[in-house]
Amino acid sequence: MARYVRDFSEGDKDQKDLLGGKGANLAEMTRLGLPVPPGFTITTEACRAYMRTGEVPPELRVEVTMAVRHLEDTLGRRLGDFHEPLLVSVRSGAKFSMPGMMETVLNVGLNDASVQGLASLSGDERFAWDSYRRLVQMFGRTVLGIDADLFADALDKAKAARGVSADVDLDAADLRGLVDTYKQIVRDESGREFPQHPREQLDLAIVAVLDSWGTERARLYRRKERIPDDLGTAVNVCTMVFGNLGPTSGTGVAFTRDPATGRTGDYGDYLVNAQGEDVVAGIRNTLSLADLEGVDPAAYAELRQAMRRLETHYRDLCDIEFTIERGKLWMLQTRVGKRTAPAAFRIACQLVDEHLITMDEALARVSGAQLSQLLFPQFAADVAGAELLTRAMPASPGAAVGQVVLDPARAEEWAAQGRDVVLVRRETNPDDLGGMIAAVGVLTARGGKTSHAAVVARGMGRTCVVGAEELVIDTEAGTVTARGRTVHEGDVVALDGTTGEVFVGDVPVVPSPVSRYLEDGLDVALAEAADEETRDLVRAVDRILTHADTVRRLRVHANADTAADAGRARRLGAQGIGLCRTEHMFLGERRVLVERVVLASDDAGRQAALDALLPLQRADFVELLEAMDGLPTTIRLIDPPLHEFLPDLTALSVKVAVDRERGHVDPDDERLLAAVERMHEANPMLGLRGVRLGLVVPGLFDLQVRAICEAVADRIAAGGSPHAEVMVPLVGSVQELRIVRERALATMAQVGADRGVPLTLPVGCMIELPRAALTAGRIAEEAEFFSFGTNDLTQTTWGFSRDDVEGAFFAQYTANGVLAVSPFETIDVRGVGRLVEVAVAEGRATRPGIGLGVCGEHGGDPESIRFFHGAGLDYVSCSPFRVPIARLEAGRAAV
Ligand code: PEP
Ligand code: MG
Repeated sequence: MARYVRDFSEGDKDQKDLLGGKGANLAEMTRLGLPVPPGFTITTEACRAYMRTGEVPPELRVEVTMAVRHLEDTLGRRLGDFHEPLLVSVRSGAKFSMPGMMETVLNVGLNDASVQGLASLSGDERFAWDSYRRLVQMFGRTVLGIDADLFADALDKAKAARGVSADVDLDAADLRGLVDTYKQIVRDESGREFPQHPREQLDLAIVAVLDSWGTERARLYRRKERIPDDLGTAVNVCTMVFGNLGPTSGTGVAFTRDPATGRTGDYGDYLVNAQGEDVVAGIRNTLSLADLEGVDPAAYAELRQAMRRLETHYRDLCDIEFTIERGKLWMLQTRVGKRTAPAAFRIACQLVDEHLITMDEALARVSGAQLSQLLFPQFAADVAGAELLTRAMPASPGAAVGQVVLDPARAEEWAAQGRDVVLVRRETNPDDLGGMIAAVGVLTARGGKTSHAAVVARGMGRTCVVGAEELVIDTEAGTVTARGRTVHEGDVVALDGTTGEVFVGDVPVVPSPVSRYLEDGLDVALAEAADEETRDLVRAVDRILTHADTVRRLRVHANADTAADAGRARRLGAQGIGLCRTEHMFLGERRVLVERVVLASDDAGRQAALDALLPLQRADFVELLEAMDGLPTTIRLIDPPLHEFLPDLTALSVKVAVDRERGHVDPDDERLLAAVERMHEANPMLGLRGVRLGLVVPGLFDLQVRAICEAVADRIAAGGSPHAEVMVPLVGSVQELRIVRERALATMAQVGADRGVPLTLPVGCMIELPRAALTAGRIAEEAEFFSFGTNDLTQTTWGFSRDDVEGAFFAQYTANGVLAVSPFETIDVRGVGRLVEVAVAEGRATRPGIGLGVCGEHGGDPESIRFFHGAGLDYVSCSPFRVPIARLEAGRAAV
């Protein structure tokens, strides 16, 4: 019989698959002897069984009975007992944290009888009735699906009737009345009584938590975070402890270091006399941990000790939820905490300096995605002149400029229209997730650094400012007012997630300190940094990136077509050019020259057009090779989707038709139209491209190879060290490559003889068709290197048109789970990746020293880089701005 239930004393932190993150860490804290209230975890296996069958497995009921009895015996109290009731919380907890996305029910076990028991146990009747009304409310909303506003309205009415404004001003009799009202709401809305039986409450709460795995918002979050839908959640049933037992009680969230900046020290929020989600929901403004020291020094000291213990044990930043019940500390949760990108780099280096982790581990703890966040521009240091709307708590860094939107659905709508929006909310709740994803920044009027908005925004890398108390948000009127200034929905504001400042209107941005470092070096970046914290961040990035460079096996090249891009790539650390797309050299004014080559009706015309191109191409290559002096520079022969280079058939037809009507047609236009008609393709991406064009249009590739060879000779003559390589695109058969290679070798010999330098440039090809991958063993007879063109390889393997597919149906395909992520973004390991592996193996078998790289977009994608490392490639090539990210990820793949 499967075991669906584990006591907290049974597991450990490595069992996240089975116990979920929260359950595994509760077990770990229990093992460490920290004060965790007793309880048990229902495993993710139970959730998966429930998802499969739609039924709670019968064994689970039995195991829950045993576990509850065990809990009762340990504590000497009975669930929902009249005298000294045991009450439990029922909380979700998946393997990967999904903050606020799933359900929690607290105070399970309270009913009309046990509320009396709780009153006498606590000696506080008001508290007992308050707990009961919270249960009915939470149960009504979560388990029975009743609109939360009905309960909130009833609460407001009760306060109005008493003439008070705060919940705490309601007395026991008021709350007892409120419980009756809530029960009536349950009756009216669900057609059933609020269940009095504690076990029924427990069972229904467990099912509600299991169901919350499948809600729309949970799915949306998982899609965003790439968490598989089939993992399921665990359910933690934990003895209730109370933070709302008066002024010596409270509940809080703590971080062992500042998750926003990485500063060392204790950070957190504490709410006196509060329960459960009050802190995270950001409904009331909070005290800091330093304030807690003043309020309850003993509990604070114990908490600090526990925090240090956890950080040492996990060797990482931990975040912690705790409750103090009448001066007694209870640990309710811990996990390795989410952090911003700057915090990730700084903390990793701090932990190395504290000898808690190695540099390899530090490298594993940051990511390319985080590094790319550090490259975003920031507001200029001098924002004088910008009008300050408000200043509040910086919760997630960055500079966000966008139009104010007060409603999450509208935020999604506007973002879909391509507008940048800043979502402004009193506080956020999990239903705002879609709007938060759509927004460039989030601003809230309430809540601390650990509020829902702050936690979620940090996780997503969204700029976020919270707790802007002076903001008056009028959703009806669509306005936000502070300091006498009113902005309307649609007006532009600028959020600074580093300082917490919010400005009216656009504010200029400047390169970030980390991009200064990457472009201009450590000294310049340090000299220009605004403060010590920034210098610390720049040093941390430098240390970790340098370490990545020493451990990585993959070289990092760049895709660049101009000397300027190549130079930039080189400054960013590129060790070569992996792909120079020569067709990009023929756009603009030169397009017509290619058109003439392709459409020429006789040899003389074609030769004239080619002759005109030669000096231009040579000059291009000279510049490029100069920029990349000493480094491999892979130049791909022209691969134009023909329709991009020829005049548009429809436009030309119309022109000729109109001219005919008028009685005069330019004979050149007639000839052009005939040629364009002759060459027109229904499917240009599968048509006369790449090597095919080179074989069909005489002289085109010869011209390019000649230009490359002459450029190399020029560079050698100038004292340079050019390392040009000739790459042939879209090869499907070894014969294609053989013909091109033979001609290329002949050109090299000729130019070499003319210029008196031996020219032996490596010739290789792209592998971007399944047939090329499958016959790579033969192709390697002619290729000195392969470069995987995973854009076309993905297109041709899946049969997805790379130009059309993303808009057409990928949204649907990701929604229904056929695709977890676009295969054009992250390599499809099973399909396209398999072809790469086949080609690597066959290529090496034929030619052991064959050079192997990738130059499709995947070369800059973190997950794909991991795959290419494993597949044994020599290098990845990506766009210049992704080079540092690829360096980091190649390092991470190696540790
Ligand atoms: C590719 O197909 O992956 C590639 C790099 O070539 P292009 O994107 O130019 O077709
Ligand atoms: Mg291609």
